[in-house]
Amino acid sequence: MLERIRIVLIGTSHPGNIGGVARAMHNMGLADLALVAPRCEVITQDSISRASGADHLLHQASVYATLEEAVADCTLAVGASARSRTLPWPMLTPRELADRLPNECQAAGSRVALVFGREDSGLTNAELQRCHAHVHIPTNADFSSLNLAAAVQVLAYECRMAWLSQQDAAPAPAVDDELVTHEELERYFEHLERTLIAIEFHDPAQPRQLMARLRRLYLRARPEKMEMNILRGILSATEKAAGKP
Ligand code: SAH
Repeated sequence: MLERIRIVLIGTSHPGNIGGVARAMHNMGLADLALVAPRCEVITQDSISRASGADHLLHQASVYATLEEAVADCTLAVGASARSRTLPWPMLTPRELADRLPNECQAAGSRVALVFGREDSGLTNAELQRCHAHVHIPTNADFSSLNLAAAVQVLAYECRMAWLSQQDAAPAPAVDDELVTHEELERYFEHLERTLIAIEFHDPAQPRQLMARLRRLYLRARPEKMEMNILRGILSATEKAAGKP
């Protein structure tokens, strides 16, 4: 289960924090670190010293230009956020997230991304809207923002606790339907938006949060591959009927 969990850091600006994240991950048995457009060097004296012996995670880390690429193969993406946002999204506590992990990680081809934001500005709304759910670490409401590595530590600890309790539990029933990956969902959202514009249901000049609301709906539904094929087929037929393939 732990090998299916990826820690994704977006736009990190301090090498020391990346090192601290590597240490927190290795302490808890996580190894998959992805960096999206880091705003600093990854391998520095600072990052290596904060990693305290977990610097192999820094050398192995994958670097991506965009969040989409970093989570393309993931079946569940959860964004960690210190603040609540305008459009309410499914919210989890770290423990609720961890409780879901054994099941999530059981399906063939499953991969879970835990996405963390910038030290100065967190995650953007667009980034949060690419996540199935948001996780908030309950904190003092007047001082809610943890250091990046500390936030990773809390979630990594909960992942480890869930993994440990799974070791004693009876095996869960097998799941055979594969969920769609993030990349397949993004292609669906592009197709959906194109179709909605073609049939003049959606005006990109007046978006009224339509695509964000539809994203929330489909992300909540957790479509399987076969269901996604049906949805894509419906869009193609709609485009054809509207004479705008
Ligand atoms: N100043 C930023 C917070 C940056 S902290 C803001 O106001 O949004 C860096 C990252 O650590 C955040 O983007 C988030 O992913 C994580 N983080 C910090 N505190 C958190 C909390 N209480 N709950 C969940 N994630 C948190």
